[in-house]
Amino acid sequence: MGRLAPSPTGWLHVGHARTFWAAHARARTAGGRLLLRHDDLDQDRCRPEFIAAAEEDLRWLGLDWDGPPFVQTARRSRYRAALERLYAAGLLFPCVRTRRDVLEASSAPHEGGPDDEPVYPPAFRPPEDAAAPPLGERISVNWRFRVPDGRELRFVDGVAGPQTAVAGRDFGDFLVWRKDDTPSYQLACAVDDAELGVTEVVRGEDLLRSTLRQQLLLEALGATAPRYRHLPLVRDAQGARLAKRHDALALRTLRARGADPAALRAGFAAELGEHRE
Ligand code: GLU
Repeated sequence: MGRLAPSPTGWLHVGHARTFWAAHARARTAGGRLLLRHDDLDQDRCRPEFIAAAEEDLRWLGLDWDGPPFVQTARRSRYRAALERLYAAGLLFPCVRTRRDVLEASSAPHEGGPDDEPVYPPAFRPPEDAAAPPLGERISVNWRFRVPDGRELRFVDGVAGPQTAVAGRDFGDFLVWRKDDTPSYQLACAVDDAELGVTEVVRGEDLLRSTLRQQLLLEALGATAPRYRHLPLVRDAQGARLAKRHDALALRTLRARGADPAALRAGFAAELGEHRE
């Protein structure tokens, strides 16, 4: 089972289209199923009209999926149940530090990639044997996952090859639930991939570091991690990664200009042919 997981924060552009085309081609070539999941947890950035637009644009591109789409906001109770399991296992701690606190106190340099964040300073952690306060019905503090310091994590990515990282050195304690009472992307994604039966994740290489975090969560939840294929990002003429503000490359714009979806797909196949099988 593969998946398409757009975030409804803007129009889909050719970068998303290429990744989704690859995920679709992988699933269909293998005779597998494919689900569509809208990652709509970020209430400040997500807008409902982008959900409908993503589906329309994907269909225009010639992609299909199996069953009704999932929306993460409708699956909140699943994420809360996972949070409670992680909490009961003693793997979480509440964190009152701000982003700025973490940035200023973090000694380790960080690469500044989009899914990268400074390593959480160990001095900010409560002692391991300190009892965590109750989660409470409504959450108003950030909760973080305590990573196993010094543990070497490895996986072989189907496209990017062997990956290794050391927990606590390359990435630190990360958010699982936000103080505005919403689950983090890492938690929601891990829970969905496990519970919806996803066996292969195809996505952009900007999420490689997130994969290690998600694998730790999956392990703590007793779930098997899917296989991963992280694709190189599409860049614009200046070499910058595409963002949703690159309207010129939005599928809507291409469509309005009379672009041919078959030609677009053929272009992706030519570019990514070697990643398909
Ligand atoms: N919705 C995420 C994004 O658009 C992708 C999540 C994923 O593939 O895990 O960046």
